[in-house]
Amino acid sequence: MLASYAASDENTRGRRFSETPPINRSEHQRDRDRIIHCSAFRRLEYKTQVFVNHEGDMFRTRLTHSLEVAQVSRSVARTLQLNEDLAEAIALSHDLGHTPFGHAGQDALNQCMRPFGGFEHNIQSLRVVDQLEKRYPEYDGLNLTFETREGILKRCPRELALKFGDVGERFINPAQTGLEAQLVNVCDEIAYNTHDLDDGLRAGLLSLEQLIDELDLVKIHRDQILAAYPDIPERRLIHQIIRLIMSAQIVDITNATADAIRAAGVETIADVRAYPQTLVTFTLDMQAANTQLKRFLTKSLYHHYRVRRMTRKAKTIIEYLFSHYMGDVTLLPHHIQDTASAKKARHGEAGRARAIADYIAGMTDRYAINEYQLLSDPMKI
Ligand code: MG
Repeated sequence: MLASYAASDENTRGRRFSETPPINRSEHQRDRDRIIHCSAFRRLEYKTQVFVNHEGDMFRTRLTHSLEVAQVSRSVARTLQLNEDLAEAIALSHDLGHTPFGHAGQDALNQCMRPFGGFEHNIQSLRVVDQLEKRYPEYDGLNLTFETREGILKRCPRELALKFGDVGERFINPAQTGLEAQLVNVCDEIAYNTHDLDDGLRAGLLSLEQLIDELDLVKIHRDQILAAYPDIPERRLIHQIIRLIMSAQIVDITNATADAIRAAGVETIADVRAYPQTLVTFTLDMQAANTQLKRFLTKSLYHHYRVRRMTRKAKTIIEYLFSHYMGDVTLLPHHIQDTASAKKARHGEAGRARAIADYIAGMTDRYAINEYQLLSDPMKI
């Protein structure tokens, strides 16, 4: 049973190319299935979340991160009677445009692309599902529904928005997305804030003492767990803390959002889109705890010297690949050379740069490292 303001097959704004309706599944289930079967989705397995793939087998990757976002989003969507399949489709596709080496890779590629219109991973995720996946005879991309695509395009500068047609509109005439997209956006944060804490502890970059000292959420849950299990071993204590933080955030966002929806009096998806602000929200207390958590992660994990050291190497690799391919396109595989010359014929230097950025963004961590070695090390063949 969907709420009247949830996205549905009845109120979907449809696909860019019309198709016969799916059999035995909904339109948004079809989106999810297309995403799972595409090649960009499989490559998420070897792309960095915080730790580069070869740093360890136990850390989150972009793939497991996306699965966690999908799980959190689905459980909130179900409780709020929103479209669980749509939330899942958006969650599974939200990071498809991520470069190798996480944010370091994205920043480096954006820097390289500055003279040619820049690079942004949300926009790239949309390019993947609208253009870069080539599987169907009738069109490029996956031809997903409007609702999944609007969820993917979380951010977009006004000057680029026109290029994206229907999903770009809300960056010109401000409007909200449907609730499922709003929800995945916040569940993305819930997932990475908690799993980055867990990975940081596992990597030995953060200590439990440090977390207890600096984070109210950790302290509260640690005290509760120790009251019930005074002799609990540290590894299990950590699991319990992470689990309870995640669960507290899920409960908070579900209740606060249900209240906000009720208070706003929205009845249809059009009301949600026209509402002056987003309706998916934490309580003020949880917002404060979250800000504390984010600041802590930035200072103690993302800026940790061991993470920074890898970030620096990632930047070197991306810059090296970009400048070498731009300087000499004959270093690229044949099919990329073809795309680069076709794009150059239509859009000049910027077209060629975009084809190279698409190629680099599609690489996994290990593929990029291997390419870098092939280009720089005479002994590597
Ligand atoms: Mg994400």
